[in-house]
Amino acid sequence: MPVSKVETIGTAQQLKDRIRSCRICAERFAATATAHDPRPVVWFRPSARILIAGQAPGLRVHESGRPFTDPSGDRLRAWLGLTEAAFYDKDRVAVVPMGFCFPGYNGKKADLPPPAVCGKTWHDQVMEHLPDVRLKVLVGAHAQRYHLGIKGPVTELVRGWRDHAPQVFPLPHPSWRNTGWLKKNPWFEAELLPVLRARVKELMT
Ligand code: SF4
Repeated sequence: MPVSKVETIGTAQQLKDRIRSCRICAERFAATATAHDPRPVVWFRPSARILIAGQAPGLRVHESGRPFTDPSGDRLRAWLGLTEAAFYDKDRVAVVPMGFCFPGYNGKKADLPPPAVCGKTWHDQVMEHLPDVRLKVLVGAHAQRYHLGIKGPVTELVRGWRDHAPQVFPLPHPSWRNTGWLKKNPWFEAELLPVLRARVKELMT
């Protein structure tokens, strides 16, 4: 293996270790209703070709330590046309949320947004260690803002998916909370998803 590749992998491992031991948000999380400790869910290797850029882990993922081990993950895998085994193949798929830890709930029991400090502290460094990414799947407004530099309504960004395909696909969050959105926007499943699945298949084979 070339020396540069060895160095890249080694440095990525060091970065992952540093993120896993991060406790920047400890006080913030302790003040939430769940009073939980930080548990960064770190899931990438430098060889990944597909990046799933999400929001932040939910409570189930906080408990499992694996990304998207929840109904949102089931829906996201269906959107991508990936089996669980393929989705969790770190050599090909990286899952990098804008917040690595579960942020807690707001008063309506919805997840709080990812702490901005997380993206500012870690995201640029992580992206430097993902040189082979050829498809970015941007799940929700926070990832879309970071990766596209665009702050706008998610529906409009997703509706304009052809402006970014096939390298980037903005998606709504696959949460059950967006089931109504999917019904109101049938073009998403009819037009966007077949193109996204074809692109994923191309990169996974
Ligand atoms: S959310 Fe990010 S910045 Fe906050 S403790 Fe977790 S890894 Fe650290």
